[in-house]
Amino acid sequence: MSDAVSLGLVGKKQDSSSKDSMLRSLAIDGPTAAGKSVIGKKLSQRLSLYFCDTGLMYRAATLAVLRSEIILEDESGIVSCVNEAGIDLQWTNPEIPRVLLQGVDVSEHLRDPRIEHTVSRVAGIQAVREVLVQRQKAIARRSPVIMVGRDIGKVILPEARVKIFLDASLAERARRRFLEQSSTGQDVTLKSVEDSISRRDSADNTGHRSITAEQAADGAVIITTDGLSEDTVVEKCLAAYQTGNA
Ligand code: C5P
Repeated sequence: MSDAVSLGLVGKKQDSSSKDSMLRSLAIDGPTAAGKSVIGKKLSQRLSLYFCDTGLMYRAATLAVLRSEIILEDESGIVSCVNEAGIDLQWTNPEIPRVLLQGVDVSEHLRDPRIEHTVSRVAGIQAVREVLVQRQKAIARRSPVIMVGRDIGKVILPEARVKIFLDASLAERARRRFLEQSSTGQDVTLKSVEDSISRRDSADNTGHRSITAEQAADGAVIITTDGLSEDTVVEKCLAAYQTGNA
């Protein structure tokens, strides 16, 4: 890990280069399983920009909360825990952010079903969001990024060169996530996956986050990916990035 890059969590830069970094970044929002990570990684490769998945930071915050055994009703306890959790992102490969808690790589633990169940609730606490929003802005000030999440175009990077909202029907998102999970041996059915996505959509729809196309940032390019190949979606995003918008 000695050659790992850690962006933005040491001090704050607010000069013309940090502004330039944000202006060269690409923001992607969209609901659960809309393909943000797959498309974001491919764009990272094509544009040689760091891929920053903010969902991983909310998942790491949730892991810290679950490990500390704080009850979910104790919001101030949760906020202190997240503040002290030492959440950091590092890259040895620009397409693959690794998530650290107090310097320990926890990336392999973030898809745990307990985290899936709890993350929307932890991420719904405004003071938790404030902690992570500051960190995500610091990352984008340091180096241009492909940043994906739910509030990127509206809150983290409103000045991004291009804002994309990736959408897909619930049935399509469930189909893709089911194929992904069953191919890794997980014991799921299409129905259980659809129920879980639907539950997370409702839990995430608190007003702070862009979950539907109607909630997308002003000027966002909305791409509905049903029936589109990954490569087609990537080309649409690249076309929008190259023209500075669509
Ligand atoms: O994108 P992913 O599904 O990994 O995100 C996990 C959860 O983190 C989301 O369901 C949402 O509750 C939260 N999140 C958020 N804001 C973001 C990114 C993720 O609230 N920018």
